[in-house]
Amino acid sequence: MACVSFPYDAPVSQTLFDRASLVTPGGVNSPVRAFRAVGGTPRFMVSGTGPYLTDADGREYVDLVCSWGPMILGHSHPEVIAAVQEAVARGTSFGTPGEGEVALAEEIVARVEPVEQVRLVSSGTEATMSAIRLARGFTGRAKVVKFAGCYHGHVDALLASAGSGVATFGLPDTPGVTGAQAGDTIVLPYNDLDAVRAAFAARPGEIACVITEASPGNMGVVPPLDGFNAGLKELCAANGALYISDEVMTGFRTSKAGWYGVDGVRPDLMTFGKVMGGGFPAAAFGGRADVMAHLAPAGPVYQAGTLSGNPVATAAGLAQLRLLDDAAYAKVNAVSAEIRGLVSAALDKEGVAHTVQAASNMFSVFFTDGPVRDYEDAKRQEAFRFTPFFHSMLAQGVYLPPSAFESWFVSTAHDTQAVERIAAALPAAARAASEATA
Ligand code: PLP
Repeated sequence: MACVSFPYDAPVSQTLFDRASLVTPGGVNSPVRAFRAVGGTPRFMVSGTGPYLTDADGREYVDLVCSWGPMILGHSHPEVIAAVQEAVARGTSFGTPGEGEVALAEEIVARVEPVEQVRLVSSGTEATMSAIRLARGFTGRAKVVKFAGCYHGHVDALLASAGSGVATFGLPDTPGVTGAQAGDTIVLPYNDLDAVRAAFAARPGEIACVITEASPGNMGVVPPLDGFNAGLKELCAANGALYISDEVMTGFRTSKAGWYGVDGVRPDLMTFGKVMGGGFPAAAFGGRADVMAHLAPAGPVYQAGTLSGNPVATAAGLAQLRLLDDAAYAKVNAVSAEIRGLVSAALDKEGVAHTVQAASNMFSVFFTDGPVRDYEDAKRQEAFRFTPFFHSMLAQGVYLPPSAFESWFVSTAHDTQAVERIAAALPAAARAASEATA
């Protein structure tokens, strides 16, 4: 990004990044962590406490990424850390069943009523990949409907027109995905029920499932229009397909029962990750018992994992979920609303066209007049304004997602002091956004 100057440096992060770039493609283990879309040096973090992260140069940031969603209680929550320490002391992996995974499954089933049975996995990608395989095995059909701008992990069949890093870097369809894999994926515009109706009409008996983010956060936050999820459910039911709600991002974040707790539309299958792992690699898919019964070893659809239901990860996840009561959601929703108001006021003051969209406490800022209803709308924003905005916030100690196409995340630990730091940083950042040129 030649147009942006970086009036501050991060020498230790830079050294680490140089080392990383020699041994790891692009210097990062997940593309969204790189600063490619905004330029500059990714910050290498060494510790996190409450709403703050500290980088390798000793600088502290208010964290508005929260590990891309999982850290809803903030970093190093004492009760989560204690549960992890207790579990670690008993061993790190047994390769057998254990009580922790039963307890975590019971907690999920108790919270999310459509989940009658659940299988634990280690990443959201595994969860969506397995849910789709199960839907295909259950229905005996091949085609999958997904929506442009929705990201469901890096599953081959689901990378077409995906959100998140794929959107951030403007990647076309990914090399390495075969025509056959992509050919069974039907990509439709988000929030467009007519398009879904037409797809079912054009391919009677061929569509195994429709997968959607329960409320998308990977093209920025673009909530479903009233009736969209219910319409998907209805169309799936009428056409013998399964409705898969991907709650990897929204699950246990947008309410006690995730987005299902907000809109009450009952999916056939659901996927979870992020918050349910308490900062560890844990994810899950679950839903109707008659569908889940097709999964090995109960049924013929194979799915497995060496570290699935890992005792340390399940202990962390369970400790986090048990702390997430109504009061916790009220707190995180309130602080989200407060920060949204501050961002909007600062941008208004500088006359910067923008829309702040929220789904419960997830939110993002689009540099365009709204509303943003689908991926095409999201791409029309003046993303060039985000770069100086991001760097101004970073220089002032506020860590935002390094992309204009991502949700921002807050936690119960974002207290008055953290909000004040954000408020203090916003005027200069808004000014930088207003002065930006394409
Ligand atoms: N589904 C959604 C909605 C996500 O947001 C993500 C990750 O951001 C995934 C699936 C993939 O999860 P993971 O990165 O754990 O593989």
